[in-house]
Amino acid sequence: MENQMLKTWIISTGTEILQGLYADTNAQWLSRRFNEIGMEVQRHMAVPDKPDLLRFALLHAADSADLVVISGGLGPTRDDVNRDVIAEVWRSNLSENVGALDNISDRYSRCGQVLSDVGRRQAWVPESAMILQNDHGTAPGFFIPRESCRFSGAALLALPGPPRELQPMFDRKAVSMLREHLDGWTVLDKAVFTILGYPESAINDRLHHPDDDENDVGITLLSNPGRVDIRLIIKASDASNSERLRAERRQKVHDRVGVENIFCEDNEIPGTVIGDLLRVQDGTLAVAESCTGGALSSMLTEARGASDWFKGGIVSYDNLVKRDQLAVPPDMMDAYGAVSPEVARAMAEGVRRACSADWGLGITGIAGPDGGSLEKPVGLVYLSLAGSNSATIVRKHEFGGDRDMVRQQAVSGSLDLLRRSLKGMPLDKRLP
Ligand code: ATP
Ligand code: MG
Repeated sequence: MENQMLKTWIISTGTEILQGLYADTNAQWLSRRFNEIGMEVQRHMAVPDKPDLLRFALLHAADSADLVVISGGLGPTRDDVNRDVIAEVWRSNLSENVGALDNISDRYSRCGQVLSDVGRRQAWVPESAMILQNDHGTAPGFFIPRESCRFSGAALLALPGPPRELQPMFDRKAVSMLREHLDGWTVLDKAVFTILGYPESAINDRLHHPDDDENDVGITLLSNPGRVDIRLIIKASDASNSERLRAERRQKVHDRVGVENIFCEDNEIPGTVIGDLLRVQDGTLAVAESCTGGALSSMLTEARGASDWFKGGIVSYDNLVKRDQLAVPPDMMDAYGAVSPEVARAMAEGVRRACSADWGLGITGIAGPDGGSLEKPVGLVYLSLAGSNSATIVRKHEFGGDRDMVRQQAVSGSLDLLRRSLKGMPLDKRLP
């Protein structure tokens, strides 16, 4: 089964889902996780809490899938019928699981409740199943491996319905159990590269070559205004193969889009990249934001320990704030307008002084939809960076798109300007 993805069907149970009372977010969440760990989700089904409909769905799923995942219906109430139907379809008797009962009794006594026979029902699981203790609720989940399946060879994973119980149980307990007990699992790895300031089409053109063998590596591009994430999904038959492929493909991406254009990789975030560059030079940064309204500060402070290098941000929306907080001269704003290279420069230099930082960054622009004119259209943004030992830089951008897109591109542009300046790279960037 080399390089063959195991097929998963997800069944969400709950009459309320089919009545539209809540959305089936478990199926979405689980699907994303399964894709990340290298299993293909082939189908979502939602089924009411009715034994005959559930039985039908389970038989159908078990016939087609390698793994059937079912969520909900494990609680103590009458409508929670899943354990009975699963035991019937997987031809396994239900019996009381001691470990599960302990956990349930514990939880009931901690809440000052007496454990009734109804509550005790939750400890009954199919004999061929392995228990997944519930750390955030009472009903345990359980897993029936393929070899214990008496009719189709499909494994079964049953999880509680509430997302706050299901998600940690899946991440902390189910994944390792699946890895251990499902043969033919492809080793899967992923690599992510973030690029700021280039359109998706340009990146796409560089990345793909007609003679590439796309069998082992899936490339997807996820694009947001001003930002493209390249994702590689690497499938291999074993770990060493996966490592080799990963290194090879990573090098290819570096060569094709230019390693200098990659802002961050894998688990890095833009804030940590800027923070690390500042730490090396023992530098600090302050920002003055107009049209981005604090979005850049928010992005920078996503990085842990940002207080080491981030002095602060001033959202200088009104001209009076630019005057009073950043010392932008009023006659400069009168003469050139608030969206001008002169004011961007004065904002960068002003915030650097006001916050006693080594670097000051200023953003002023027209995000729209109103406020544009022929000579200053919506999307016009000036970015400026002032440093203690270098001449202040001003960059002009004309971003496309609506208000939100202009704001996001202004943030990406600022991060790009910061990274290139702090690294001493040329500001005129090019793809290979
Ligand atoms: P409980 O012990 O809480 O009864 P259970 O395993 O029996 O858990 P259900 O009774 O089916 O689960 O659902 C309990 C609650 O969990 C629902 O009211 C709903 O809020 C949430 N839930 C269940 N299934 C889903 C789902 N597919 N997507 C999102 N939320 C869900
Ligand atoms: Mg329930």
